[in-house]
Amino acid sequence: MTDAPWYVLGVGSVGTLWACRLARAGLPVRLLLRNAARLGRYQQGPGLRLIEGNCETGFALPAQTADAPGPIQRLLVACKAYDAEAAVASVRHRLSNGAQVVLLQNGLGSQQAVASLLPKAEVIFASTTEGAWARPDGAVVFAGQGLTWLGTPQSGPAPVWLDDLTRAAIPHQWTTDILMRLWRKLAINCAINPLTVLDQCPNGGLRAHPRTLAVVCQELEVLLHAVGQPTAACGLAEDVERVIEATAENYSSMYQDVAAGRRTEVHYLIGYACAQARQAGTPVPALDALHKALLAKLRTLGLPTG
Ligand code: NAP
Repeated sequence: MTDAPWYVLGVGSVGTLWACRLARAGLPVRLLLRNAARLGRYQQGPGLRLIEGNCETGFALPAQTADAPGPIQRLLVACKAYDAEAAVASVRHRLSNGAQVVLLQNGLGSQQAVASLLPKAEVIFASTTEGAWARPDGAVVFAGQGLTWLGTPQSGPAPVWLDDLTRAAIPHQWTTDILMRLWRKLAINCAINPLTVLDQCPNGGLRAHPRTLAVVCQELEVLLHAVGQPTAACGLAEDVERVIEATAENYSSMYQDVAAGRRTEVHYLIGYACAQARQAGTPVPALDALHKALLAKLRTLGLPTG
């Protein structure tokens, strides 16, 4: 065990899931809330509530805002990708030299932006297959068991504080190729999520689009090679097909965000892929068309496109 408190920035679904498990293991956890109004509301309530199966547990964890005093040695960032950079900037002045900062954002682009803000920190990228969602009453439901991959873009060795995650029973694995994991997940997301929004269907509905899927996967494979991620390209089309079959009844996260009128992380998913393709000089016409159609749909619905 290590003794530095875990500061959790972004106490939504994933932040709550992590904070509660770390606290349950007896580890010190502090919540960092957006502003005084959020803090006041939290302090008047029962604390965090986590639902696992039929069991609900409450955790009255100490909370503060970014401008509270005191150094931060260990920071878990669980905001949406589009909020991560500003959220981290708000606590940057409190980070100790060599602080560990774990980034749980989906997609790519936000991690690099945060890392460049923090040249003196040890920035760890993560990719998780766990799932959680917040009920309207604020309780968070742990909906999907999974695994969290962690690693540094410099392929550094596993740090000693990973013991905290083991102690908290958070399934995890250190990897020296976290960018490959993030790119692979992003590529699968690019193939599935935008189409489910455009076609208004669960993942299984994409069985009706074999040609589009084949062309998009082929372009993604070329792109992955062009950005130096050939391993992430291996068997991509087959994996996309497998995910569609295994989750045929489910609605993608992007579909759910759009259906609920929430901002999507499009800029860090297909938006990032298309931008990287442009930068690499790799033509991806089908992916570009999908991206364009998705942005048009978001605009029609009055949702942000960035
Ligand atoms: P979420 O429920 O929307 O939670 C994000 C939290 O960040 C919100 O509570 C938000 O607070 C807070 N936040 C934003 N800006 C902040 C700031 N400046 N200071 C303090 N707090 C701030 O999102 P989520 O579902 O947990 O997702 C987090 C990330 O994990 C996303 O990138 C997502 O794609 C990824 N992920 C999620 C899941 C899942 O199952 N949920 C699975 C895999 C990956 P406000 O309420 O004040 O806005």
